[in-house]
Amino acid sequence: MRKCPYCKIEVGGAPEKCPLCQSRLTGEPESPYFPEQPLLQFRSFLYKLQMFIAWAVIIACLALDFLQKLRFPGFPALHWSLLLAMWIIAVEFLIVRLFKPGSTTARTVTLVVTIVLILLLVTSHFFGFLWLVRDWIVPVTISASLIANFVFTLVDKQGNSMSYLLSGLLFGTVPFLVLYIIQREMPLTWIICLIISITLFAGAIIFKGRMVSGELRKRFHL
Ligand SMILES: [Zn+2]
Repeated sequence: MRKCPYCKIEVGGAPEKCPLCQSRLTGEPESPYFPEQPLLQFRSFLYKLQMFIAWAVIIACLALDFLQKLRFPGFPALHWSLLLAMWIIAVEFLIVRLFKPGSTTARTVTLVVTIVLILLLVTSHFFGFLWLVRDWIVPVTISASLIANFVFTLVDKQGNSMSYLLSGLLFGTVPFLVLYIIQREMPLTWIICLIISITLFAGAIIFKGRMVSGELRKRFHL
């Protein structure tokens, strides 16, 4: 127990100074109540460092793009720095979200896939390869993440993955309907994605029927 010679109080742990008057404490220290956490401090430093670099890159690219008029060959009117800033800010957002405690694998997969696909659609729109992303990358990625979430749901004992499987099934069917209404014609990849969505929904009912109905009841307050 340490003691403050002025306040006449005893302080547990191993503090250097009196919490009341900030004078130097006397007496033998005990083992500290709040041990130092060098690993956490190091991680926090790395996090700040990468954030600092990210902002430095964004600022430098905005300046080169808007002030120096440095543009991509073939895209003289494209403000590429805005697209780059969009990607960097999304990555920063994902870093904050992914290191939150209690994040499940299914949640992580769903979040990353959703954000990356939206950014890819925006980027490809400006760079002229929207067809590649819309007709190939998006349906193939959604199909793959649906299958991954289905496997997580089968092995997940607590049933947290079920909501992601069910909302993932919406990703597999809703874009299909929107595209179908707009252009009346579907690329084969989207048809396969739709088949996978419906098949996995049937599989979820067959293997985990009670969990599906429980999840739906929870979501729609039935
Ligand atoms: Zn004191």
